[in-house]
Amino acid sequence: MAISRDPALSAQTRLVADGRPDPAPDAPLNEPVAFASTYHAGGERGYGRYGNPTWEAFEEVLGGLEQGRALTFASGLAASSAVLALLPDAAADADAVVVAPQTAYLGVLDQLRERRDAGRIELRQVDVSDTDAVRKAAVGAAMIWLESPANPTLEVAEIDAISAAARDSGALTVVDNTFATPLLQRPLEQGADVVVHSVTKLLSGHSDVLLGATVVRDDDLFARLDRHRRLHGAIPGPMEAYLALRGMRTLGVRLERAQATTAELVRRLRDHPAVDVVRYPGFGTICSIEVDGGAAGADRVVDAVRLWVNTTSLGGVESTLERRRRWPAESETVDESLIRMSVGIEDVDDLWRDLARALDTA
Ligand SMILES: *Cc1c(COP(=O)(O)O)cnc(C)c1O
Repeated sequence: MAISRDPALSAQTRLVADGRPDPAPDAPLNEPVAFASTYHAGGERGYGRYGNPTWEAFEEVLGGLEQGRALTFASGLAASSAVLALLPDAAADADAVVVAPQTAYLGVLDQLRERRDAGRIELRQVDVSDTDAVRKAAVGAAMIWLESPANPTLEVAEIDAISAAARDSGALTVVDNTFATPLLQRPLEQGADVVVHSVTKLLSGHSDVLLGATVVRDDDLFARLDRHRRLHGAIPGPMEAYLALRGMRTLGVRLERAQATTAELVRRLRDHPAVDVVRYPGFGTICSIEVDGGAAGADRVVDAVRLWVNTTSLGGVESTLERRRRWPAESETVDESLIRMSVGIEDVDDLWRDLARALDTA
């Protein structure tokens, strides 16, 4: 599996149609949860750490959407660390320069800093929306790590221009596509080498599963990532893969609804007197606001909501928000009052009433 059955179909259709058992009489419509630590000898899977039919159904759907070959991992960070394992090691006298965003998912930045502090990479952090700055930093680099839109400030990177520059300097371009999803952005089609997903978020969509994935086109990259998963063992459970695929079936309608609601909320937020800044890339279901009253004002807002959920994480059917600087490790370039908001599929007026009332407390 892992390659879409009919690439002529639209992404919306492939979300529903791919990743299913062959339509033999009495076969189930959905790939069942295959609880199996091992398989009868003679086939390709061999052992439960190497492959699983439920993972493969999920991988077929995600790979079809991104137009590459997907591998699923135990979490988004497990997928990220498999990708970082592709890097040469400065401790072994190799050049290992990584270009990364100034603000991005904290766990990824922490992984990069850990490697830097151990002398294994040189880290160059840049504003990824400044393509010229990224191009300059890319000279001599082994990897350009992009997150677009970036968490939580929502800068958008020009993936095509950056991938082309990276290719010229022999660097791999990696794009964390969690916020956009393959329905809104397909980095491999724009020249990137590796896509990373926290499937935990929009793809699964129901805040009940942790899962990650990589997607690549190049066979050698695929083999190296697969080998890393086999050897280091950050594999998902079959139940997680099942839940993620079940959630992904409705990604198209969830995204359409939540995007429209986000655009409308952004219009209203721009007119609210307590909101100083609205950050919104113009698409997607995540936006951030900076409010009056600094950290304390923002804390009052997130405490006052009743329908919105004050929590970390994002991309579920339920709308969530949080003040990002409540995390001590969050970048100091992120404003103390910044509240990141993830819009779900509730009624837009109900969401607005709850939010507007909470904002009045800022
Ligand atoms: C959540 C997230 C991750 C990490 O994914 P987990 O599934 O929590 O390990 C990585 N990147 C982005 C953009 C995320 O939002």
